[in-house]
Amino acid sequence: MRKKLLLGNWKMNKLASEAKEFALASVPFAALAKKNNIEIGVAPTYLSLATVKEYASKDMIVAAQNVHFMDHGAYTGEVSIPMLKEFGIDWVIIGHSERRAYDNETNEKCHEKMKALFENNMVPVYCVGETLAEFDAGKTKEVVGKQVSEGLKDFTAEQVARLVVAYEPVWSIGTGKNASSEIAQDICSYIRSILREMFGGVAEEIRILYGGSVKPVNVKEYLSCPDVDGALVGGASLKIESFEELLTNIL
Ligand code: PEP
Repeated sequence: MRKKLLLGNWKMNKLASEAKEFALASVPFAALAKKNNIEIGVAPTYLSLATVKEYASKDMIVAAQNVHFMDHGAYTGEVSIPMLKEFGIDWVIIGHSERRAYDNETNEKCHEKMKALFENNMVPVYCVGETLAEFDAGKTKEVVGKQVSEGLKDFTAEQVARLVVAYEPVWSIGTGKNASSEIAQDICSYIRSILREMFGGVAEEIRILYGGSVKPVNVKEYLSCPDVDGALVGGASLKIESFEELLTNIL
């Protein structure tokens, strides 16, 4: 049975002081989530990771939004896996469409990062999704299939048992134009079929999230789909009241 997962991606938002306020206020919701067998978490900026880790409940997942695949070295502006681990961070979002678009994050780069994460027993949240032009051209499955197979090539079933995949159509991120739950189910089920081909039965254990304009009002509909195991939420995860509502609406 795959545990439902609600993960907030804060992107480049919140000062450390604001992150602390959120972390403290989220403590009761983490307990409520745990009681209902749901996992919740947030991905703050690097500068707020330690603060959120310190003040949030131990049951709250705290994820980084990116990482470098090398342990250390001459990579100005980067942060490594050991640096995250020192603060107890073992979840990392990989290949978010904003990084693919603005930071040349290719499937190959994502693969390298996930390889390093698996070697360090960490959890990648691997984001895939098509652009509007690709969606309009009917290429969603082709694009997403390539992202999944190239990003995850050569890994073992044992490694990917820890993986989380997030299907996020680029045209729905931050636009308020969310994909229908039928589209979300169709593509998440397609992703699971590729995972099954690549890794066998472990595909039934891998959590696949939907992301793209998820709000308290529509979260339940997505999570009712058999192959949608949770949500990756941007805008609606920023305010504690809205984060709380996302959770209470799926209890
Ligand atoms: C995201 O950033 O991953 C995301 C899905 O954003 P939003 O919920 O704001 O569309």
